Amino acid sequence: MTEPFEYSEKVKDHFRNPRNVGTIKDADGVGRVGNPVCGDMMEIQLKVEDDIIKDIKFKTFGCASAIATSSMVTEMAKGKTLEEALEITRGNVADELEGLPPIKMHCSNLAADALHAAIKDYLDKKKTGEAKPSENEYEVAVIGSGAAGLSAATISSYLGLKTVIFEIGEWGGILNKFCSSRLIENYPGLTGKMSPEDLIRSMLEDAEEQQVERKEEMVNNIELRTDFKILTTDKGKYTAKAVIIATGSVPVKSGILGESKFATDDGGVYYLTADPSRFENKRVLVYGNGYNAVSAAECLEGIAQSATLVTLEDSFDVPERMMKRAKGIEMLKILTSTSLLEIQGAERVEKAVLHNTAEDEKLEMYVDAVVLAGELKPDLKVVDKLGIEIMESGFVRTDKKQRTNIDGIYAVGNVATEIDLLIVAMAQGAIAAHDIYDLRKESRR
Ligand SMILES: Cc1cc2nc3c(=O)[nH]c(=O)nc-3n(C[C@H](O)[C@H](O)[C@H](O)COP(=O)(O)OP(=O)(O)OC[C@H]3O[C@@H](n4cnc5c(N)ncnc54)[C@H](O)[C@@H]3O)c2cc1C
Repeated sequence: MTEPFEYSEKVKDHFRNPRNVGTIKDADGVGRVGNPVCGDMMEIQLKVEDDIIKDIKFKTFGCASAIATSSMVTEMAKGKTLEEALEITRGNVADELEGLPPIKMHCSNLAADALHAAIKDYLDKKKTGEAKPSENEYEVAVIGSGAAGLSAATISSYLGLKTVIFEIGEWGGILNKFCSSRLIENYPGLTGKMSPEDLIRSMLEDAEEQQVERKEEMVNNIELRTDFKILTTDKGKYTAKAVIIATGSVPVKSGILGESKFATDDGGVYYLTADPSRFENKRVLVYGNGYNAVSAAECLEGIAQSATLVTLEDSFDVPERMMKRAKGIEMLKILTSTSLLEIQGAERVEKAVLHNTAEDEKLEMYVDAVVLAGELKPDLKVVDKLGIEIMESGFVRTDKKQRTNIDGIYAVGNVATEIDLLIVAMAQGAIAAHDIYDLRKESRR
C-alpha cells in the first residue's frame, strides 16, 4: 500500500537518523505521552543544571512522524532554559521539520507535549524537594564567613539544606583578622577561655563536618527570579533558593589629614582589618574610643615596640575591667581628650600631630604606624543594587526572623545589627537558617 502523503526530507532524515535516542541515568525529569488512536508512545528524559537542559533523550514507539518529531524536539530543547523550552509548541516542531502530513499533525505530533511533561515533572520534583540539585544549585547560599555566616551555613546544612558559603577575605571574618590570638570577651561560657582563632578553627571544622561547601569567591551580584536567586561571583554563577547576607562591616574613613596618602601600599595607616604582624617592633598609635580600639591596643603587647592609645573623649567606652587591664600594660601609653589632627611623613608614616583639647596643647609624636580603630559601617556592596531596605542607622532592616524586605533574602550579623557581639551574630545566623528550613517544610506539605 502506498502512503497517501509525502514526508519532507527533514522528516525522513530524522526518522532514518534519529538524534538523542536513549535514556539518561538519574534523569531529573521524565515525560510520557501516548495517543491511543494511532498507538504512538513517547518518553522524554531530561538532565537539568541551573535551569538549563543539559541533556535530553527520547524513546518512542510509533510511526515515522512520531520518531522524527521526538528527535527534532530534543534537538530544539537541548541547551535551552526551561522557560525557553516550555515555549516550544507542536507547531514549532512541525515547522522545523518543514511540515507534517495533516493527518499526522494531530496524531503523532506529541513530542512537544512529552517535553512539557518532562519539564513539569522536574519542576514538581524540585518543589517537593525530590529533585537532586545540580552542582551549582543550592538551597541556601551564605555570603561572608564571619561568625554570623559560618553559624548560618553550618546550621542550615545540619538541617539538611544544601548549603554553600562564599568568602573573599579571611575565613572567619573580622574576628580572624586582627588580634585573633587574644581571648574572647563577652561570650558566656567562652569569655577568657578561648581565642578567636581557636573558635573560628572549631567552627570551620563543624562546617566541614556538616558538609557545607566552601568557595573562595567574591559575590558581585545577585539577580532575583521567582523561585530562586542567581549569584554571580568572580569565578562563576550559582543558584540558591535563599540567600543569607553576612558581609559584616568595613572601616569608615576618618578623613584625618594624611590618611588617604598612607592608607595604601603599606604606607603606615591601617584599620582593624590589618594583620598585626605588620606592627612588629614598630611604634604604633591606635586612635579610637570603643572596644575595638582598646582591644587592638592590648593586642599589640608583645608585638609592637610601643603603643599609644588615643581618644578624643575623656574616657574610653569599654567596661572598667577592660580598661584596668589595658592600663596595666607597660608598653601602652594612654591619652584621653586628645584628637589626631594629621599623619605626616615623606614616603611612610613618620609622625602624628595631636591636639590635647583639655590643655589646648599641640603635640607631635614620632610613630611608624597608625591604626584607625574608629567606626565600622555595614558592608552593603552586594545588597546595594537589590533594593533592600536599609535603616537610617545604615544597617539592613530585617524582621525578627532576619528576613529582609525581599523574599528569600536574609541579613545577619554586623551588616544587620549594631550590637557588635559574636553571640548575637551567631544567633542571627541560626535564626535565619531555621526560618528557611521552616518555610521549606511548609511548602512541601
Ligand atoms: C578586634 C575585634 C575584636 C572583637 N572581639 C570580640 C569579642 O571578644 N567578643 C565578641 O562578642 N565580639 C567581638 N568582636 C565583634 C565580633 O567579631 C563581630 O560581632 C562578629 O565577628 C561579626 O561577624 P560577621 O559575620 O557579622 O562579620 P565579619 O566577621 O565582618 O564577616 C564578614 C565576612 O564577609 C566577607 N565578605 C564581604 N563581602 C563579601 C562578598 N561580596 N563575597 C564574599 N565574601 C564577602 C568578608 O570578607 C568577611 O570575612 C570583635 C571585633 C573586632 C573587630
